[in-house]
Amino acid sequence: MSHKVTDELVTANGRYADAFADPGLAAPPARRVAVVTCMDARIDLPAALGLAIGDCHTIRNAGGVVTDDVIRSLTISQRELGTRSVVLIHHTACGLLSLTEDFRQRLEDEVGQRPSWPVDSFTDLDQDVRQGMVRVRTSPFLPHTDDVRGFVLDVTTGRLREVEIAPGGAADR
Ligand code: ZN
Repeated sequence: MSHKVTDELVTANGRYADAFADPGLAAPPARRVAVVTCMDARIDLPAALGLAIGDCHTIRNAGGVVTDDVIRSLTISQRELGTRSVVLIHHTACGLLSLTEDFRQRLEDEVGQRPSWPVDSFTDLDQDVRQGMVRVRTSPFLPHTDDVRGFVLDVTTGRLREVEIAPGGAADR
């Protein structure tokens, strides 16, 4: 099965390329925004946010966690490709909610080596979004941190809910 799926993707690409017309887009995102979200297969970002090809940078990982590597991508996004706004999106029923740092121990037990990376699991979606916003806003590498907002996407309704930077406080910093 796992061998077959890539063949299916390549076949689909043939059809895609046959119908493809170069839209002539430039690399800098037209709407000057970078979105950081989870790799979760249920999140259809362009549909959920009204984004077209060429509009934004999309940075995805397990959880949509603002890791050092996300900061790396945001730094290149802002400094080299002109984005100005950052949108962080976690989502309900995220796999990271049921994972713990014990995952690292289990890996070590199984393969005899401890991963160099943290699992970055979380138990509170809002709190992890807030932590991400703080990491972005305080990064010395990011020149544009005045428009950083965080949300939780409900995968059962498709609706975004904004996370306030301080619990019970204003969304603005
Ligand atoms: Zn997730």
